[in-house]
Amino acid sequence: LIVMVGALNADLGIRVAKLPAPGETVAGRDVETSPGGKASNQAVAAARLGGRVRLVGAVGDDEAGRMLRDRAKADGVDVAFVAVLPAVGTGQAIIPVDEAGENAIILIPGANGAISPGDIPDAAYDGASVVCLSLEVPMEVVVNAAVRAYAAGATVILNPSPFRELPDELLDAVDVLVVNELEAGQLLGPAQSFVAVDGAPALREALAPHGVTRFVVTLGAQGSVAVDGPAAAQIEPSPVSAVDTTGAGDAFTGTLALRLAAGDSLADAARQASVSAALSTTRRGAQASYADRDELARAIAG
Ligand code: ADP
Repeated sequence: LIVMVGALNADLGIRVAKLPAPGETVAGRDVETSPGGKASNQAVAAARLGGRVRLVGAVGDDEAGRMLRDRAKADGVDVAFVAVLPAVGTGQAIIPVDEAGENAIILIPGANGAISPGDIPDAAYDGASVVCLSLEVPMEVVVNAAVRAYAAGATVILNPSPFRELPDELLDAVDVLVVNELEAGQLLGPAQSFVAVDGAPALREALAPHGVTRFVVTLGAQGSVAVDGPAAAQIEPSPVSAVDTTGAGDAFTGTLALRLAAGDSLADAARQASVSAALSTTRRGAQASYADRDELARAIAG
């Protein structure tokens, strides 16, 4: 069982010719509401590929919250541990996407910002072999989930996005870290940048004191780098024409969690995750763009 802990958002997607600069007004079209939020996306990505998945988080008592639970359930995700917090609304994300498929995101936390460790019973982690965490919920929820899951013997995956300073207690409970290039730089320290595969040694050194020896850096259209102890594997990107990269990172993390739960090595899991994420960029939206098991198998077979 794979348990995803984190945010569920109603995404409001808007097509624009170019993303607005500060002070600029641009025209938008094709406004569409769809299920999103990092944990919700990661859960659907893994479940659609055949994984047994539980989603843990919170929504408001509203239409968006019901839509999110219904959509996840339709993909086979267990939503019994999605708390309904009546005092707040479901989280929302406003996502303009330009013609090159680049996006910018405004996040309205709602229930994702209001959830506390007490909203998550121990039973939520029962039977978990992999627990996957992201940072769109309060840090105390993430730390608490990591510590409980690690103590229970699960493999703890952390996708520290959107990036925040990570407490030692959290890193100490992490088995596998998944970051994009920007987050890798932020982990290295102020004004640092992570440069392709050459950045691996610096990040390895930064994470070693916490016992984190396995991590993946996603490099957008440049593919990714999977580091497992002394070994670093550069994973070539799948050649696709991207139309919308929304949720590509979550497709990557969800697929990686699924493959690690299935017993793959980190490099093998990252190769599958890379193909899965690339497929997701060829279609609009986040969850709507995710591949199923047959499509991923065909793409991997070439
Ligand atoms: P995030 O969306 O979290 O910033 P990335 O942009 O690094 O993450 O994308 C995550 C993964 O999605 C990449 O490692 C890659 O596998 C895949 N991907 C993203 N953009 C493309 C692209 N243009 N072509 C092929 N694969 C892509």
